[in-house]
Amino acid sequence: MAYFDYASGCPVDRRVIDAMIPYMIDVIGNPSSVHSMGLKARSALDEARGKILRLIGTEDGEIIFTSGATEANNLAIIGFGMRNRGKGKHIISSSIEHMSVINSCKVLQKNGFDVTYIPVDRNGIVRVDELEESIREDTILITVQHANNEIGTIQPVEEIGEIAREKGIVFHVDATASLGKINVNADRMNADMITLSSNDIYGPRGVGGLFIRKGVRVQPIIVGGGQEKGYRSGTENVPGIVGFGVAAEITEKEYREEAKREEKLRDEIIRRMLEIEDTYLNGHPELRLPNNVNVRFSYIEGESLVLSLDMEGIYASTASACTSKTLQPSHVLMACGLKHEEAHGSLLFTLGKETTEKDVDRLMEVLPMVVEKLRKMSPLYKKKKGG
Ligand code: PMP
Repeated sequence: MAYFDYASGCPVDRRVIDAMIPYMIDVIGNPSSVHSMGLKARSALDEARGKILRLIGTEDGEIIFTSGATEANNLAIIGFGMRNRGKGKHIISSSIEHMSVINSCKVLQKNGFDVTYIPVDRNGIVRVDELEESIREDTILITVQHANNEIGTIQPVEEIGEIAREKGIVFHVDATASLGKINVNADRMNADMITLSSNDIYGPRGVGGLFIRKGVRVQPIIVGGGQEKGYRSGTENVPGIVGFGVAAEITEKEYREEAKREEKLRDEIIRRMLEIEDTYLNGHPELRLPNNVNVRFSYIEGESLVLSLDMEGIYASTASACTSKTLQPSHVLMACGLKHEEAHGSLLFTLGKETTEKDVDRLMEVLPMVVEKLRKMSPLYKKKKGG
C-alpha cells in the first residue's frame, strides 16, 4: 500500500508508545491524588507541558491539555469570547479556517458577537490589508490558522501577530497543520493562544492542547473538578499527555531534516502530476507545507478518483477528512475562487515520516492511468476531445 493521507491520521511513533505504556500499567495514580503515585502522574503532566512549551519556543504561558485540536479551538474562541465580552464583541477570522474555528465563531455570533471573515487570494493567503482595515474599537480577538490543512498554504502570521499586538488585540493561531512541519514559535508570531494537536506530530489521538499566554483570561467550556488550573475539568489523560510530550520532544529534534526530505518528495509528486493534461495545483506554489500536495483534475469527480486509487492500495483524500462527509465542496477551495466542479475534482495527498520514493513511484505509475480511465467516462471530456 501507499499511504498519502497523513493529514487525516498519523501512525504513533514507536518511541512514543514505549513511553506511554508505564503510565497505563504502573503509574496509575490520579494526578489530583496526594499520595506518591498521584504526584508521579502530576509530575509527568508537568514534564509534558515543558516539552511542548519548548517545541513552540516560549516560557511565557501555560499548556492546557484538551481532547484534541477541536476542543482547543473551542476553548480559545468560545472561552475567550465569553470571558472577555465586556471588552468588546467583535472577532476577526479568515474564510479558510477549520470548521472547529468557524463553528466556534458561530456560537459566539449566536451570543451577540459580530465576526468578520477575511477573504483569501487565489493561493489561499489571507488579505492582511483587509484584516487590518476590519479592526474596530470593539475587536477583542483575531483568530487565523498558521497553515491550511487542505491546501497547505502558510499564512503571514508574524505580520498579523504584529498588527494584533500593536492594537492590543489577542491573537489566536490554529497550528494543528503546521506543528512539526515548519517552525511554530509563539513569541515570533506574537501569538497569545495556540492550538496544538498530538496525532499530527505522531503522538496518540484524542489529545491536544491550547497554549495560553500569561495574562490572557479564558472561561472554561468544560466544568467540573477544576483540573488543568480550572480551564478544563476532567481527570487528565495521563498516558496520552505523556505521549504528546514525548512526540513534541522527538519533533523538536527531528522535524527539520524530515521536512527537507518530505519537501523533495512533494516537489517530485507535484512536478509529475502537473505533467498530466488539464491538471492544476491548488494552494500556494511556494508558501506551502512540505508534506502537502493538493491538485485538481478537470473532468473528474474527486470521490471516484479516491475510490479508484483505493482499489490499487493507494490512500488519498478529497478536501479535508473532517468535512468530506458533508459532500459539500470544500469551503477552502471555494474561498480561493474555484468553481464547484473544480473543487469537486480536487484531491489531497499528504506525506509523512514513512512515505518513501517507492510510494511516490507507485502513485505516479497508477494515477495517470486512473485519471485517463475516469476521463474517458466523462461526457464533458469526450466533448472537449470532439468525440
Ligand atoms: N484545525 C486544523 C487546522 C485541522 O487540520 C484539524 C484536523 N486535523 C483540526 C483543527 C481539528 O483536529 P481534531 O479533529 O483532531 O480535533
